[in-house]
Amino acid sequence: MTDSFDVVIVGAGLGGIQMLHQVRQVGLTVRVFEAGSGAGGTWHWNRYPGARCDVESLEYSYQFSEELQQDWEWTRRYSSQPEILRYIDHVVERFDLDRDIRYHTRVEALTYDERAGRWTVRTEAGDEVVARFVIMATGCLSSANVPDIAGRETFAGEIHHTARWPKQPVDLSGKRVGVVGTGSSGVQAIPVIAQQAEELYVFQRTAAYTLPARDQPLDPELRAAVKADYAGFRARNSAMPTAGLSRYPTNPSSIFLVSAAEREAALEYFWGLGGPLVLRSFGDIMSDPRANELVSDFVRGKIRQIVRDPEVADLLSPKQPIGCKRVCIGTDYYETFNRPGVHLVDVASAPIEEITPDGIRTAAGSHALDVIVFATGFDAMTGALLGIDIRGRDSLSLKEMWSAGPRTYLGLGVPGFPNLFTMTGPGSPSVLTNMLVAIHQHATWIADCLQYLVDHDISVIEATHEAEDAWGMHVDEVAGKTLFPSCDSWYLGANIPGKKRVFMPLVGFPAYAKTCAEVAEGGYRGFALTRP
Ligand code: FAD
Ligand code: NAP
Repeated sequence: MTDSFDVVIVGAGLGGIQMLHQVRQVGLTVRVFEAGSGAGGTWHWNRYPGARCDVESLEYSYQFSEELQQDWEWTRRYSSQPEILRYIDHVVERFDLDRDIRYHTRVEALTYDERAGRWTVRTEAGDEVVARFVIMATGCLSSANVPDIAGRETFAGEIHHTARWPKQPVDLSGKRVGVVGTGSSGVQAIPVIAQQAEELYVFQRTAAYTLPARDQPLDPELRAAVKADYAGFRARNSAMPTAGLSRYPTNPSSIFLVSAAEREAALEYFWGLGGPLVLRSFGDIMSDPRANELVSDFVRGKIRQIVRDPEVADLLSPKQPIGCKRVCIGTDYYETFNRPGVHLVDVASAPIEEITPDGIRTAAGSHALDVIVFATGFDAMTGALLGIDIRGRDSLSLKEMWSAGPRTYLGLGVPGFPNLFTMTGPGSPSVLTNMLVAIHQHATWIADCLQYLVDHDISVIEATHEAEDAWGMHVDEVAGKTLFPSCDSWYLGANIPGKKRVFMPLVGFPAYAKTCAEVAEGGYRGFALTRP
């Protein structure tokens, strides 16, 4: 007999495990399927040297349990991957979550049976279960992008992707290592790999802005102060556009209202605070290209000060507007290029042509390598969802429906796909926020919605086409007022060959959270609700 559940959750990252806990509180039966061998998602897969979060640990943590947030002691301003994974393991154990999770189980297909009002969930092994509701917690950044470079299979050494890093430590000492990619993953890995490897070749296609993290041990007084009013701290962070860093100043005024000396002083001050805070130094950085250019130029000046070789400094200096691609937060990134044995290879002017048994050959020459590290990112936001054959009403395929780019209502529901929720889906703020806040808001909204459906004896909830159309226009309109769509980024899907260019996340967390709350209070307007 096929197992049947009220709810199936796909994915056991930070999103899936919070969702599991909250679905249980509604009193529904639930099963979680996770492709990996353990819980943690991002923090299970991304074990590369130097991996850590770039949202402060006091914020990059769960808020659904006051006892949990009081008990757990973060040790640093930004937590490392092993520390976050220990935290996740603790949460799984503390809330007894493992008994409802099936690991090593990739979901391959989801098919809606309209007559029965049930989803059939098929795993890669061919097993099937049925469920009334399905919650996709498959992650925005979980589908690794491995570039299709000719000759990959001929390489005699080891190849690793940062997002599929082995559990066993990879010994890089005395080796010639090539890192392809200089986004956030590359920027974190490169300084640590440089300390271990004999020679490091960094293959850079686009220079990214790297702002100093200024990581440090967490100040016990700060920790105690936050814990004294954690609820207030969370509420203040949720009121910020990116759902975080409320304890730091924000200057909303225009960069053009101050003198050059005042501008420089303000930028120095925010640069000194660390993390992405330099983007808070003036109010028009993400909306006015001329304001943005002044800040971009300030950071390029910093690069020139740090990197001794002017040619290398020039290559490391980004040309696109700052913040348009996600800024990277690093430690000793630019300083690393002053080390002997670290070589920057410009693959914008001379692209990678092939991988040979000995290394990487670009249009300008060959580089002998023992290990290749792909820090080449993800098929973001839609990759994991479309990796599953999802069929809604009348066998409608999500892949076909999204062939011109993803369309949702609130980033939570899709017309034609009843009783299917997409956590941190396209059209929600997700990756433009502290994702733990986005996850909390979605898990709570979905759990409240399930409770409402149970209480009101509603069997089917489905986003309407009208709501989806209006929402798509809203997401585009908000993005259009910013500089986000002005360069090639994974927010737009521009990093994946052939992917339709659509700006996928919604800018601005507080307005979004308010809308979601109003939708719920209004009896889930924009969704069609059906009684049996
Ligand atoms: P994930 O953690 O990606 O989990 C999704 C899970 O679903 C994965 O375990 C995957 O195996 C599973 N899955 C996918 N498809 C299937 C399938 N078909 N069948 C079964 N299982 C499936 N965000 C921040 O806010 N701050 C940060 O500092 C930050 N740092 C990051 C660092 C790295 C290296 C990366 C890659 C991302 C970072 N992010 C950060 C974003 C991060 O992804 C989120 O913060 C958060 O961890 C997402 O949790 P999630 O549960 O939504 O998704
Ligand atoms: P990414 O930002 O997409 O960077 C990928 C890099 O690989 C880019 O430099 C890209 O160049 C390059 N690349 C891709 N294909 C290539 C090819 N065929 N040849 C040469 N270069 C190629 O991916 P990521 O660094 O993994 O980061 C993704 C996101 O994950 C981040 O933006 C962030 O949200 C999250 N993350 C956060 C942290 C953190 O600090 N907490 C750490 C890691 C990741 P182009 O720019 O030219 O495409």
